[in-house]
This record gives sequence, structure tokens and C-alpha cells, in this order.
Amino acid sequence: MSASLLTTHGLQAFYGDAQALFGIDFALAAGELVAVIGANGAGKSTFLKSLAGLVRAPREAIRFKGESIGGLPPGEIVRRGLALVPEGRRLFPSLSVEENLLMGATARRPGPWNLQRLYGLFPILAEKRRQPGTSLSGGQQQMVALGRALMSNPELLLCDELSLGLAPVVIREIYAAMPGITAEGMAMVIVEQDVTMARQVSRRVYCFQEGRVSLEGLSAELTREQIAQAYFGIEAAHA
Ligand code: ATP
Repeated sequence: MSASLLTTHGLQAFYGDAQALFGIDFALAAGELVAVIGANGAGKSTFLKSLAGLVRAPREAIRFKGESIGGLPPGEIVRRGLALVPEGRRLFPSLSVEENLLMGATARRPGPWNLQRLYGLFPILAEKRRQPGTSLSGGQQQMVALGRALMSNPELLLCDELSLGLAPVVIREIYAAMPGITAEGMAMVIVEQDVTMARQVSRRVYCFQEGRVSLEGLSAELTREQIAQAYFGIEAAHA
């Protein structure tokens, strides 16, 4: 593996007085796809939000392409090549599919992704491009959210629970697009509740438990027992 594209060292995060992350050490190489799994409330979304500048982080705790980016404004982080597909998609309700996609292009980074390329990846979005984004099905809205982030031509794409609330067939359709997305060397961090899917698509997995990394390893090598224990905690695994 080449040098790290992204690292976090002892990353902590707080909501007021409540601590959500307790020192996350994380590393990802250029072009690598890493999954973050863990139970509800384990801190997965908070981790992605910290990377994207939506939750405060100390400057030195996050390094991207050799520079400290912790706590930079979200727009500045997108301009540097790190984009987030947020949990729950968060499309702009008054905008059409195409207008939603174009919102992602405001960072104007050079790169392979543009409307034409996206419509090739998700042809249904070309058909529906003039419709309000929020009138689409859940799966199609997820395609728009993913496409909007791709329009900024990130080097690292963060995806928060793409499969949330979607039928299995739709989840498979979305994940089937992943090889087409990573083919050009884009790295990805995916937060995913569906552990089987997370392991299938990723090279490495981090499991979070109560704001800490409870397990890290190659997706193909971790056993079900290791994951169950890291996911639910030792007490639950032995219960
Ligand atoms: P989920 O799968 O439910 O989204 P998660 O692993 O993404 O879970 P987070 O959403 O990051 O977990 O939550 C981590 C902790 O931070 C939890 O204890 C949660 O209650 C708390 N938390 C998350 N968002 C907020 C917020 N806006 N204000 C206060 N506490 C929050």
C-alpha cells in the first residue's frame, strides 16, 4: 500500500459536554475502499462528520494529503478533495435532480465526473433530470446524493449509510456502481449497517464501539466471531 491519503490520530469529538469519539486512529491509502461498521450510536456518523468539517476537530488530529485539515470549514474541505454523502441523502427539496447534482459542482475541481458521466453511471437520473429531486424513490434519491458528491471530483468520498431504508435489490444496485466509481483511483470510506455488504465491497474494515475502534483488519480475513465481538462488545458476545 502506498502512503496514507488520510490519517486521524487520537481523534476526539464532542456534542457539548457529551463525548462521542474517544481517540480514533485511522489510516486510508489512495484508492482504498474502507468500511466502518458498528452498532447504532457507535460514532460512525460523527467520525465522517468530523472528517468533513461538520463536527469540530482539532487541526492536527486529521491529515489529508499531508496537510492538517481538522476543523477547517466544510467548503474548504470539499475544495481540497474530500466529499460527504450524508446520512438521509439531504437533497434540496425545491431543486430538480439536475440542479441538485450541479450543487455538487460548485467546488469546481477538475476531474472525470460531470453530468454526462453521472448519467452514464445512473441512466435513470438522466430520464428524471427535470423532476424535483425529492419526488424520486429512495434509491434514486440516494443516486442523486452520491452523484452530487461525485460532481466535486473528490479524491476521497465518504458515504454515510447508503443503504438506509432501501430494499435489498436497490442496495445491490447502488453498490454495483462502486467499481465504476473507484476505477479511477478514488478512495472511499463507507459507513454501513449491512455488515455482509460492507465486507463484500471493502478491502479493510474498522469496527467502532462506543466511540472507539474495537477492531481493524482485512475484510476477507476477519472472522464472523471477531466481528460479532467487536460489534456488540465482549459481554454481549458471551451472553
Ligand atoms: P447511527 O448508526 O445510529 O447513525 P452512529 O454510529 O453513526 O450511529 P453517531 O450518530 O455518530 O453514531 O453518534 C455517536 C454518539 O453521539 C451517540 O451517543 C449519539 O447519541 C451522539 N450524538 C450524535 N449526534 C448528536 C447530536 N447532534 N447531539 C448530541 N449528541 C449526538
